[in-house]
Parts: sequence; C-alpha cells; structure tokens
Amino acid sequence: MKYVKPLRILVVGAGHVGLYAALRLSRKLRATEAEVVVVDPQPHMTYQPFLPEAAAGNISPRHTVVPLRRELRRCTVVQGAVTKVEHSRKVATVQPVVGPSREIPYDHILVAPGSVSRTLPIPGLREHAVGFKTIGEAIWLRNHVLECLDIAAATTDEQTRRRALTFVVIGAGFAGVEALGEMEDMARDALRYYPELKADDMHWVLVEATQRVLPEVGPQMGAYTVEALLKRNMDLRLGTRLESCVDGVVKLSDGGEFGADTIVWTAGVKAHPMVAATDFPLNPQGKITCDATLRVVRDGQVVEGAWSAGDCAAVPDLTAAAGELCSPSAQHAVRQATRLADNLVAELRGRPVKEYRHKHVGSVASLGLHKGVAHVYGVKAKGLPAWFMHRTYHMSRIPSFNRKVRVVVDWTLALFLKREVVSLGALHQPMDPFAQVTAPTKQD
Ligand SMILES: Cc1cc2nc3c(=O)[nH]c(=O)nc-3n(C[C@H](O)[C@H](O)[C@H](O)COP(=O)(O)OP(=O)(O)OC[C@H]3O[C@@H](n4cnc5c(N)ncnc54)[C@H](O)[C@@H]3O)c2cc1C
Repeated sequence: MKYVKPLRILVVGAGHVGLYAALRLSRKLRATEAEVVVVDPQPHMTYQPFLPEAAAGNISPRHTVVPLRRELRRCTVVQGAVTKVEHSRKVATVQPVVGPSREIPYDHILVAPGSVSRTLPIPGLREHAVGFKTIGEAIWLRNHVLECLDIAAATTDEQTRRRALTFVVIGAGFAGVEALGEMEDMARDALRYYPELKADDMHWVLVEATQRVLPEVGPQMGAYTVEALLKRNMDLRLGTRLESCVDGVVKLSDGGEFGADTIVWTAGVKAHPMVAATDFPLNPQGKITCDATLRVVRDGQVVEGAWSAGDCAAVPDLTAAAGELCSPSAQHAVRQATRLADNLVAELRGRPVKEYRHKHVGSVASLGLHKGVAHVYGVKAKGLPAWFMHRTYHMSRIPSFNRKVRVVVDWTLALFLKREVVSLGALHQPMDPFAQVTAPTKQD
C-alpha cells in the first residue's frame, strides 16, 4: 500500500482563533490526514475578557490562561514567534524562545497573531504607561496599584501621596472601562486595611477622545455606565486627549495637568505587526484581506492554502452594510475559528466551504464586584443582573472544563474569604535581594 504523507497545517498564534481552530482541526482530522502544528511565543492562550478580573484579584492569574500543551494534545506545539511567512514557498520562519531560528514548511497556514495596542507618539507614553492586553500587564498593574496604596499610606510628603493615589486610564472601550471599574473596586476594598487612607483621597481618571463610553453596549447603557462611574466619584474626561505624560506629569487637551504614578493605555488595537512580514495582501488598516469563507484573497482571488481570522484579519461582516468588517472581538474570533476549521476540513475533503455570518449579539461588561452593564440579544441590564450575566457568559466561553471549574472555585472562595489585596511586587524583581547580598567578582 502506498504511504501518503499527512498534510501539515501551520497555526500561527494560539489565541481565541488559533486555539479553538487547532482543537477542532485536530479532532476532525485523522493523524494520517494532517498534522496540526501550533506556534505561539506564549505557552498558553490568554482569555483576555478575564484580564480585568485577574487584575482585581477575583480570579487567579493562572486560571485566566489555558496551557497549550495540556489542551492541544493532538497537535505539535512549538513555543516561538513566527517572524516571516513566505507563502510563495509555503515556508514560515520561527524564532524559538532561545536559539537559532528555523523554517517550518506547510501545506495550509492559518494566520492568527491577533492585535497589539494602538499607540500614538505621545511624549512620555513609552516610559510611563502600561498596556492592558497580556496577563503580565494585568498582574503587574494589580501589584502596582496595591503598592501605590502602600506608598501613599507610608509617606509624609503630600505630593508623593497625591501622585501615588492618582490612577489614569486612557480609552473608554471594553478594556479601559472594565480595567478602571475592577481596579477601583479592588483599591476601595483594600482601603479597609489602610486606616491612613480614605476613598476620597483616590483620584481615578478616565480619558476618552470621543464622547462615547463603552460603545459595545449601545448609547443607553453607555450613558448608564457614565452615571455609575460618576457616582463612584471618578473623574471622566470625555472628548479629551492625552497630550503628554513626561515624568508621570499628565497633560490633557482640556488643560488638565497632574502627576500620576499609574497610566494605563487602552485606546484601541491594531493588527499584529507580524502580518506585515508575510507576503499576504493587507488592507489600508494593515489587516490580512479575507473573504467571508476566511480564506486570504488577493484582488478578489483566493490565495490557495492561506486562511486568517480574528483581530488581524479583515473579514467582511455579511450581516452589516456592504464594505463593513467584523469588529475585533472574542465573540467573532471564536466563531470564526469554528467556521474556518470546518471550511479547511471541507476543502481537504473536496466539499464546499461556507461563509461566516454572525450578527454581533451585543456585549456584557463588569464594572467591579456585583456591578455590570449588558446589552445582549436586545436585552439591556445593569447592576447585579448584568454583572451576573457577564460572569455566566464568560465562564461558559473560557475554553476547557478544567478552567471553568478553577474559575468558579476562585469566585466561590472570594465570596466567603474575601479577595486577597496584598501586593506581590517583589515578583517583578526576584533577583534583587540575592544580588544585594552577593559580592561582585572581578568579571562584574
Ligand atoms: C482586557 C480585554 C477585555 C476584552 N473583553 C472582551 C469581551 O468582553 N468580549 C469580546 O468579545 N472581546 C473582548 N476582548 C477582545 C478579544 O479578547 C480579542 O478580540 C480576541 O482575543 C481576538 O482573538 P485573536 O485570536 O485574534 O487574538 P488573541 O486572542 O490575542 O491571540 C493571538 C495569539 O497570537 C500569539 N502571537 C502573537 N504574535 C505571534 C507570532 N509572531 N507568532 C506566533 N504567535 C503569535 C499571541 O501570543 C496570542 O496567543 C477583550 C480584549 C481585552 C484586551
């Protein structure tokens, strides 16, 4: 009998698209049909909608991520970054975590490296701000905010205290509003252990260039969100831009100027720069051009063996006006992953592919413990019911039974034992104490 080598499907990025697609492909295809190789610089997928809850200490950081080797048992996992794709030769260059780069040939490629923060050339931003897209950023922020409370409680200098207690978030989309709501809630909760500080001493600022807050939940629920944040004494600066933050001195376009030790940038995303290192066509926003079947297209023609989806892909939204694209959201990403995997299997088996069609059902957002806002399937909710919808929805979406159980256990423990509000900032410089007690040698 003649042996036919299995095809190789290369999955670039194991996020919402990559993980779900790889799982489905590896379940649907026999090992003799195809080998699924997954490349990602991280050993885990990050469930980004849970980052605000992880930052607030409601969920353990480890339970917000899904270990790739544990979930993708039928795939080959390579930890590294794809630095180049030459589809003309069907070869991708991979830079492993350590060591020389290597080339991986493939038959089909699924490009899904997601997005990165979209920044602007604002003086001081690079040095003083932090993004909110990775588990590292979320955990750093949690430790940093708690550390700021410690600094403020210990100092006798009024300016140091004011700076430490000023927290600025730029961008009023999902990530910004949820990060602000959850972090403020955590800090307020922590204050019970700080008799030196009062809630009114904290200054939480939300800066947004447009007049809209949480556009994902619609204008009515956006207005409710504004009201809810104002009731918590937050300083909302709508129609305002950050002009500079050199040395942590925040200067705003409305004339506002103040020192802040915490500046979080969440003003939008753009396609991962890695897509520019491919020979695939990109749209003016730098996303890979796809058709509704999630195949890459050049000048209206399908590029054979090339697929893309998620935040890095320009996928037509068939439920909206002509020319509209699917928004960068987990809601689209996970559904596109399923459609893409099914289409790839269909193509390999000579069956017709189908178009991706999903009408955005709305969104749920948490504004802190027991506080939320939701607008899904036409149903609007606020406060506790919305917060409950947020938790139930995301618990149902986080991949794997194992993660679901861990997240529910975290929530239940926090309910009875209260969340932990201790800063583990030392985690960020673990070698310092040892270096301080170790004498330098001549080579140093
Ligand atoms: C704080 C926050 C809250 C959010 N909340 C919601 C929400 O409530 N609802 C919602 O619908 N959406 C939400 N989103 C958006 C949603 O998370 C994204 O739209 C979704 O993750 C996009 O999926 P993706 O697969 O395209 O990218 P990702 O999930 O980001 O995955 C990309 C993967 O590619 C990997 N990668 C990067 N570079 C390379 C490379 N060179 N080579 C190989 N791999 C690479 C990354 O490590 C990552 O694992 C939120 C986002 C954030 C940041």
